[in-house]
Amino acid sequence: MGDLIVVLNAGSSSLKFTVYVDQGEKPGVLYDGQFEGILTEPRFKVKDSAGQVAAEKKWPPGKPLGHEGAVEALFAWGRDVLSSTDRIVAMGHRVVHGGLEYTRPTVVNAHILGDLERFVPLAPLHQPHNLAAIRIIAKRNPAIPQVACFDTSFHTTIPAVAQAFALPRKFTEQGVRRYGFHGLSYEYIASVLPGYDAKAAEGRTIVAHLGNGASLCAMKGLKSVACTLGFTAVEGLMMGTRCGALDPGVMLYLMDECGMDARAIEKLIYQESGLLGVSGISSDMRTLLTSPDPRAAEAVELFVYRITRELGSLAAALGGLDAIVFTAGIGENSAPIRKRVCRSAEWLGLQFDEKANEAGGPCISREGSRLKAWVIPTDEELMIALHTRQALSGKAG
Ligand code: ADP
Repeated sequence: MGDLIVVLNAGSSSLKFTVYVDQGEKPGVLYDGQFEGILTEPRFKVKDSAGQVAAEKKWPPGKPLGHEGAVEALFAWGRDVLSSTDRIVAMGHRVVHGGLEYTRPTVVNAHILGDLERFVPLAPLHQPHNLAAIRIIAKRNPAIPQVACFDTSFHTTIPAVAQAFALPRKFTEQGVRRYGFHGLSYEYIASVLPGYDAKAAEGRTIVAHLGNGASLCAMKGLKSVACTLGFTAVEGLMMGTRCGALDPGVMLYLMDECGMDARAIEKLIYQESGLLGVSGISSDMRTLLTSPDPRAAEAVELFVYRITRELGSLAAALGGLDAIVFTAGIGENSAPIRKRVCRSAEWLGLQFDEKANEAGGPCISREGSRLKAWVIPTDEELMIALHTRQALSGKAG
């Protein structure tokens, strides 16, 4: 087949991967797969470029693979399916936090890897696992170049006023500020938006990345000027298991009155809140939308309400709005959620097209609507593959 770029997205219990063949302008997907439950009951599934299941495997409960075992199993599978002419020329990784320093995709060496550890406390759910995958591969296959692509990089255009918290300056200076995340997804949307809506691409757009993690990004001329995610990836919207914006006084109450320490609060706000916490049922939007339990309906209502509020806030920050874009698992697939968000955005000039929304778009606003609404699938993996290739060829990603 030829030169391959492997994109990895390592989470706490999963390892997602996409194998690209580096051809022409746009790398082509060869395989797309994931390991899930790597610490409990590992499962592996991979699909080929036609979306057909190419391999599947399950490990018995009590036989955790861990990240190292998953990487090992990935290479073992690769040895079986790839031909002798295939060569992995690079591995590209999603790394959630690059702080203020890492503003573009970076070829990783031992020094940089150590430096990126500094951001672990700022993204405890993601960063340690992102870095673990890089470290394991560096040890196992030191000759393969690895590129870290950061979810924060796209947001370095956010103006200082929108980055700052109203804390004494010394904290801002030491990096306590809003960074924003989901940048690879927003960057992809920014790269394709001109093909959908030239006016919005030059103007003011809010992109709603609604997946397990959820956020909104305000773009002016395709550049990020504000994001609902902040210092950490727990800020802003309500998410699958994360609470989103929380009065900081709640933290003090939890410490003083409930005897919770930092670790207990971390678990609460990252893993036990959001759709899961409010519904008490599930973090999965599909489950909640089909559940007859009133707590599921309440969780969905709060999810939409929080988006509505933040949409207004970002529209104000932009001084008006030309388009809303829905993307990621919920944004791309859930017509009922899009409908509720769009209905709540009618005051901004949106004339919603119910039929087009049911059909999945891409345009879900009516002809002549002052504010346009779009459904655009994101592709963070392609962005990483492109960046990886560019970083290795010495061009800025
Ligand atoms: P991640 O942040 O893990 O990449 P995704 O972007 O895959 O997450 O989004 C996962 C979310 O998308 C889940 O809440 C899931 O229920 C939701 N989702 C996927 N398909 C649908 C659908 N058809 N209707 C409603 N929600 C959906």
